[in-house]
Amino acid sequence: MNAKRNCAVKKQPILINRTPEIIESRSKLPIIGEEQVIMEAISENDVIIVVGETGSGKTTQVPQFLYEAGYANENMMIGVTEPRRIAAISVSQRVAKELNETSDIVSYLIRFEGNVGPNTKIKFMTDGVLLKEIQNDFLLNKYSSIILDEAHERRIFTDILIGILSRVVRLRRKRSNPLKLIIMSATLKVDDFSKNEKLFFDKPPIILLSSRQFPVTIHFNKITPIDYLAEAYNKVYKIHTKLPAGAILVFLTGKLEVRQLVLKLRKVFPYKESDFEVGSKTKCKTNLKKEMSKPLPDINLDDYDIERHSDDELTLSENSSNDEDNDEVPRKIMRLTSSPLWVLPLYSMLPVHKQSKIFEAPPSGCRLCVVSTNVAELSLTIPNVKYVVDCGKTKVKEYDPLTSVSRFSIVWESKASANQRAGRAGRTSPGHCYRLFSSALFNDEFPEWSLPEIKTTPIDNVILQMKNMKIDKIISFPFPTMPDKQTIIEAEKRLILLGALEVGNNDVNNITPLGKSMAAFPLSPHYAKMLCLSKDRILIQYMLYIISAMSVQEYLPGENVEAWKKTKLSWVVKGEFLLLGDLMVILRSMGGASYAMKKSGLGGLQEYCNKTGLHQKSILEAWKLNNQLINQLNMSVPSLKLNTDLDMTLPTPIQAKQMRQIILAGFLDRVARRLTTNELSKNNIRPNKAAYYTSNLLSVVYIHNSSVLKKSKPDWVVYQDIFEVQNKMYIKGVTAIEPEWLPVYANKLCKILKVLNEPKPRYNEETDKMYCTINATYGQAGWSLP
Ligand code: ADP
Ligand code: MG
Repeated sequence: MNAKRNCAVKKQPILINRTPEIIESRSKLPIIGEEQVIMEAISENDVIIVVGETGSGKTTQVPQFLYEAGYANENMMIGVTEPRRIAAISVSQRVAKELNETSDIVSYLIRFEGNVGPNTKIKFMTDGVLLKEIQNDFLLNKYSSIILDEAHERRIFTDILIGILSRVVRLRRKRSNPLKLIIMSATLKVDDFSKNEKLFFDKPPIILLSSRQFPVTIHFNKITPIDYLAEAYNKVYKIHTKLPAGAILVFLTGKLEVRQLVLKLRKVFPYKESDFEVGSKTKCKTNLKKEMSKPLPDINLDDYDIERHSDDELTLSENSSNDEDNDEVPRKIMRLTSSPLWVLPLYSMLPVHKQSKIFEAPPSGCRLCVVSTNVAELSLTIPNVKYVVDCGKTKVKEYDPLTSVSRFSIVWESKASANQRAGRAGRTSPGHCYRLFSSALFNDEFPEWSLPEIKTTPIDNVILQMKNMKIDKIISFPFPTMPDKQTIIEAEKRLILLGALEVGNNDVNNITPLGKSMAAFPLSPHYAKMLCLSKDRILIQYMLYIISAMSVQEYLPGENVEAWKKTKLSWVVKGEFLLLGDLMVILRSMGGASYAMKKSGLGGLQEYCNKTGLHQKSILEAWKLNNQLINQLNMSVPSLKLNTDLDMTLPTPIQAKQMRQIILAGFLDRVARRLTTNELSKNNIRPNKAAYYTSNLLSVVYIHNSSVLKKSKPDWVVYQDIFEVQNKMYIKGVTAIEPEWLPVYANKLCKILKVLNEPKPRYNEETDKMYCTINATYGQAGWSLP
């Protein structure tokens, strides 16, 4: 431990006026008893690690401890980073409420959106936002303390922040203006931070919060079912109809599954006031026998006689008379069709106001059932969960850093995740966790921990951001977990190709002026470059539409796949618009929707979506992102005066052509050339196939069925994404390009071979070389594929 040090700023404790309710709910949290231990450790050390399982109160309480102890004043704030935007917003609101303060004091800032102001004292933000701030103020002088939350998730940005902040802490200490760094984790796997001498020379103390966990009984399936969605349904059905009260939490892998199960459960156990209707002389079976002890909505059980005919059968009759033999007394018998279930979905794309429903009590007499992706495993604590149903799987985007090929896979979760999920059942009373897989499978197949993100996703953007912060030698950066050397090399190669880096001396690739402009956008380097190259205002607007839509997960094909197929066909027109390909389709969908919205509001938009098959929420999401990007651009370049009004006309043919050129410049590492007839036959591929070579893959790739360019098969294309399905590679988001543009917009792909009198560039099939004009000098450029 470090020696006791005096802090530069004198701290004035602040008195908080909490409501009795809040005082009561706080007092139940395990962390409350540890306030003094934590605050002493913070005052004696620059860096501490707080470990406590989810729900122990880290996120909501540690910022309050610091605030009460006076870590915020006129000049200094408390900063808290969250990996997810949704958590930053909801926690800031919760903490404001607990402190009885307004959003002026406890605020949030996420990508382009927030309520941070001059009075903000506690600022919740995403990791990315803090990383951006460090680029402008490396010492983070506005902050007295930084809390890095959910560090166990090992998101790339959190990892990078830990590396950078380890240096900032040292510098601030040297200047006698110490910055306190609190790393919070829900699991004990903190060795990568605590025992990493490259990071922290003095080993930071770890404060372990006591667990207030009730025992959770684990039930494994005897055999592992193939259809875990059906099995999850069966399990919920059984729990709800047979087991005592208590909320159910189901873990599935993705939004679509969640919605599917929610719909099914709502159908089978509908919640309607009429479920509690008092009917006429009807006796019926009910599965409510366990619910008997609880009052039912709108019915005072004291007014009724309850007769139990058998274990499963009961009738309620109005006790207006005590004369049991009097047949004249109306015997109202309560009819309960089935006990309702209050079923709520939970996934990260769900709007905040819908997400926060899980914190509200369900209607009385209803059992709460939350069907969730792993959002509920990591950052949100749902009250009163007694039963957890765990499908055992999780969706991951697997990514090959060398080839950029990605694929979504559903894989077994780690043992750590499974235990974390089970733990959700024991927060308020002993609970049960139903694992929809066998114990043998769990022991043999489940990995201990999941890999940190830095090992599994593209790091191009992170490297660009780091270079922009003058962190030149990526390889010597104190990463909590070092990315593979080859991954760094490939990412830098791609950035060089994009023109964001240039080969410098001493093995260091330096950031270029273009790279600096690109780094200003919180977007993948491809999109950032497209924006940087769109000089014209109109072009920027079009590009923003495309980028926003492409950034919304599952924007296409939308809600109704069949309707969408028809729409797409009707949109495929000839000429420039067709050549713009799938990006044109996206532009048209955004344009059409904006017209419908303008003409007849949300109703018009809904009608448009029904007709075309598009998904209304995705469109709204894309518009929101579009407006946020516009706000950011207008703030940094006021002369642009971009318009957030949803007025959109389609581009002219000239603009469409310019857009294709810009897309090529942005995606020049994703150019593909169609196989010639000879090449097709050599590879035993049928001549009508849309088969392509790319510049970095040995295998042939195919245009995906969803692409409007699948039929017309242009000779040269760029693509947005490449992914693998059953050993075949597919490209998506395809746009046609002209080969003669390559030497201009993708000259790094071309080699100038010799001067040639050739006025118009062309591709020679025999030599597999480009012949073209460069900078008014006639030249021959060659690009051999693969
Ligand atoms: P940790 O960070 O250790 O997982 P939290 O501070 O997030 O713990 O949660 C502590 C408690 O506060 C939990 O019981 C949780 O249910 C409650 N809580 C968190 N956010 C909200 C919210 N927005 N509304 C109501 N209760 C909340
Ligand atoms: Mg937390």
